[in-house]
Amino acid sequence: MKTSSDLHNHYRLLLGLLPPWVVTNVDLKVDQRLVEIAVQWPVDHEVECPECQRSCSIKDQREERRWRHLDTMQFQTIIKSRIPRSECPDHGVKTIAVPWAGPNSRFTLLFERFAIDMMIAAKSIKAAAGLLGLSWDQVHHIQARAVERGLLRRKLDDVKHVGIDEKSFLKGHKYASLMVDIDGARILDVVQDRTLEAAEQLWQKLPEEVRGGIDAVAMDMWDAFITSTKKHAPQADIVHDKFHISKYLNEAVDKVRRAEHKWFMKDGDETLKGAKYLFLKNPENMSDLERDRFKSLRMDNLKAGRAWSIKETFSEFWTYSYQASAEKFFQRWYWWATHSRLKPMIDVAKLMKRHLDNILTYLRHQITNAMMEGFNSKIQSIKANARGYRNFANYRIAILFYCGKLELHPL
Ligand SMILES: [Zn+2]
Repeated sequence: MKTSSDLHNHYRLLLGLLPPWVVTNVDLKVDQRLVEIAVQWPVDHEVECPECQRSCSIKDQREERRWRHLDTMQFQTIIKSRIPRSECPDHGVKTIAVPWAGPNSRFTLLFERFAIDMMIAAKSIKAAAGLLGLSWDQVHHIQARAVERGLLRRKLDDVKHVGIDEKSFLKGHKYASLMVDIDGARILDVVQDRTLEAAEQLWQKLPEEVRGGIDAVAMDMWDAFITSTKKHAPQADIVHDKFHISKYLNEAVDKVRRAEHKWFMKDGDETLKGAKYLFLKNPENMSDLERDRFKSLRMDNLKAGRAWSIKETFSEFWTYSYQASAEKFFQRWYWWATHSRLKPMIDVAKLMKRHLDNILTYLRHQITNAMMEGFNSKIQSIKANARGYRNFANYRIAILFYCGKLELHPL
């Protein structure tokens, strides 16, 4: 038959505790479906000062604290202990570190590890909280500590190409600016707003030596992003990438189409009715039916058709390897676009000409912010769980947790 000290020793081994830590009591509370394990450091045993690791005597013991541990079968399992305080001649009175939990955590390291896996699998704090029997705030705190841990361990020496972009946040009421590591496919940080101050804050999240090592930055033609980059990473090339330029060109085509459709509809002409998606679609991806309809629009006679051709033709720009050839192509294209008598196309062509130097850099670096789109569904689901994300700091933590590729687990 097992004695109670055998049982205590068994629990000590289960918890991975080394002597002189002892399990002094295991209390099974069947009615509460609870196991309470009392753990103690013998009072006559010396402790290490957490600052200098010198052996010191114990000053006293703190009041009892409790940590949630992994369940034993279906019983919630709690470790309780009074942690001793060391009395070091150099560092004074300090609470010693315990092997089963991080400082100020109410959970054991193994429990935190499990909770992190649960959050990753459940894809939301709310679902993980339900499964773990914890409150939203408790799970959020585990998430916040995981991100803090991950940021401390994060290596940034390989970051050469970053992208800066904006995202609307809280149903489009507010903006956030994000920085991504393009090669590492991870979000580096996110700040509230898309102002110059915000962009500067974003840059300051990177250590100075990392900023100084960046070769190129992909971004929209947005002044705050341009100005802050020139200031904080002056050596880096700015790249107004394919992805953003296509967005501008598509929007311009759409403006032309909408205006023309409105004009037609005054006379009840439904030529362009429901044609929006055709003008946005790559012809290679059209079904036969769509392609026939698109051809039958007699594109040459339509303003929307001319706008569309201007947009489509520009895609050739991205195929050049030599800057001089690309520039020559741009001049021809620019002349055509600005003589189209289509105001949205003229506007976007002029905007592009103003930023041409930083569009040509694409040919050298070939980077885009398109990977940002890959994070969209994850960011959307973070927004959908918005209950706790009204607070921007919480939103940032969730984004870094799910999209930061951090090492989140306690060691
Ligand atoms: Zn000390």
